[in-house]
Amino acid sequence: MTDMYQAFRQHFQSDLQGIASAPGRVNLIGEFTDFNGGFVYPAALQFRTQVAFRLRNDDQVFVYSQNYPQESDQFSVQNQLAPGPCQWGNYVRAVFAVFQQREYALKGMELVIASDVPQGAGLSSSAALEVAVAGAINAALSLTLSPQQLAVIGQQAENDFMDCQCGIMDQLVSATGQAGHAVLIDCESLERRFTPIPKCLSLLIINSNYPRKLVDSAYNQRRRDCEQAAAAMGLSSLREATLPMLEQCRASMTADQYRRARHVITENARVFAFEEALGASDINAMSNLMRASHQSLKHDFEVTVPATDGLVAICDDLLGQAGAARMTGGGFGGAIVCLCPHDRVETLNRRIKREYPQQFGLEADIYQADIGDGLTLKIHPCSH
Ligand code: ADP
Ligand code: MG
Repeated sequence: MTDMYQAFRQHFQSDLQGIASAPGRVNLIGEFTDFNGGFVYPAALQFRTQVAFRLRNDDQVFVYSQNYPQESDQFSVQNQLAPGPCQWGNYVRAVFAVFQQREYALKGMELVIASDVPQGAGLSSSAALEVAVAGAINAALSLTLSPQQLAVIGQQAENDFMDCQCGIMDQLVSATGQAGHAVLIDCESLERRFTPIPKCLSLLIINSNYPRKLVDSAYNQRRRDCEQAAAAMGLSSLREATLPMLEQCRASMTADQYRRARHVITENARVFAFEEALGASDINAMSNLMRASHQSLKHDFEVTVPATDGLVAICDDLLGQAGAARMTGGGFGGAIVCLCPHDRVETLNRRIKREYPQQFGLEADIYQADIGDGLTLKIHPCSH
């Protein structure tokens, strides 16, 4: 792990004032429900992005990332922020831009970023970065914004400045997660409930490395299908929809709209059933629910690919009812999540390394992660 004090001194020849640190995440169940005003069930990971900071007396922001040693970013907070030439630096600008838009009196800052969140692996390194930067600004300017408010700022940064229409899940779990716990989030009210994960299970995230293509247009089409299915039932979103209502209105929607809505309705129900299963440490029930979620994502929402189906099949074949696996995240490739008994992790690793390349001509990346805390803040004792 990077020594942030040393790294900061190296770049800025001065001591940092504090370190904001925010984690990546994985969603256990509740997929494609967020933009339907529904429910999701993610956990924060012990992979984290740290942002060391110091306030300046002028309007200049200087940003270094240990993950991108070749390029740095610099901008002024006096003018309205626009994207710059440094691709990753735009995530930092995006967060400053939201504070600017909300008319906070910003000042110049020095920032050093270091992260062990794998990027582009479906673990939301972008949300970790946004939440950590928002946490750093909050602390440096003594703004007392809550973790939930910082999450909303992070989401707005990604939506507006980065033009990526994600829901609130990634930033909210990154800001408010609790070690050892999964968090059930109501995506409409943002209310959260925490339940511990059984201690006998390891959490694995397995990236298929399947090349994702045309994902945005397919995602937008799914969103439209859901909206139109809700409209056909006379609802503003699928949140309140039920299976009987869906059957009753089946004739007034397309076959695609019907199946997309059926996924969302059944997936929301699975989130609550999963909470009960977790509460009772009922791994058998967890296994059935994650399997049903995957099948629904495959047949009704049509966002899985043979590579992610194949990875889930390897897990199911080895673990049976003793573990649970399904695709997670945006789909069309990406990652699967697996809850695996500790004593099977080695065997599962071996089988995936052997069988997955044989079947699909691809190598998978396997990450084992403990469930960590959300946003944390450390203030350097000599900074006042
Ligand atoms: P993910 O699924 O990991 O969120 P994204 O494409 O949404 O994938 O975000 C990854 C991008 O976020 C990177 O390309 C980079 O621009 C930025 N990013 C993430 N972590 C860091 C970091 N530690 N330092 C600099 N930029 C980062
Ligand atoms: Mg992202």
